[in-house]
Amino acid sequence: MKEGKLIVISGPSGAGKGTVIKKYLEKHPEDELSVSMTSRPMRDNDIANVTYYFKTKEEFEKAILNGELLEYAMYNGNYYGTPKNEVEKRIKKGINVILEIEVVGAMNVKKMMGDKCTLIFIMPPSMEELKERLMNRGTDSMESIKGRLDIAKKEIKESKKYDFKVVNDDLDKAVSELEDIIKNNII
Ligand code: 5GP
Repeated sequence: MKEGKLIVISGPSGAGKGTVIKKYLEKHPEDELSVSMTSRPMRDNDIANVTYYFKTKEEFEKAILNGELLEYAMYNGNYYGTPKNEVEKRIKKGINVILEIEVVGAMNVKKMMGDKCTLIFIMPPSMEELKERLMNRGTDSMESIKGRLDIAKKEIKESKKYDFKVVNDDLDKAVSELEDIIKNNII
């Protein structure tokens, strides 16, 4: 049986990658998004075990020691990581798995998986637009927004290491570019 593809998608917080991925998956329910583990506090729109597996710092560190994670990273003061088992099982079944993760984790996946994974970076139209989106989202404190903007600048520099870049200035266009990359035999 043909194995599924591992697709790693990164982009600054507020670039709209969550929305692009959600719309892509509505059109392609045969592909699946990996649910990450995190030690960050839940937000109002989070659903436990759906948006993330929420863990304490101690529980997360135990998972690292037990080798349960494919990759993990610290982002804005909290741990985030990809459960290894679930990803491997789906890929073996022939399912394409999407990881929505930040750049440090993405680079680690690339090191481990090489050509077996494809890295896609979702770009915001501009830094100004990014700031506006984060403020309008209303889910983060001013301090957290500042932290996310500082990280965004560094992440955008790293985007040159990705296989593909998709600029999210128009949602439908961004989704169709993602479809081209994943479905039309580019990878
Ligand atoms: P948020 O707190 O906004 O949900 O996520 C913050 C950042 O962590 C985002 O860039 C998101 O893509 C990234 N992230 C989410 N899950 C994982 C993961 O499992 N591993 C890594 N390395 N980053 C993740």
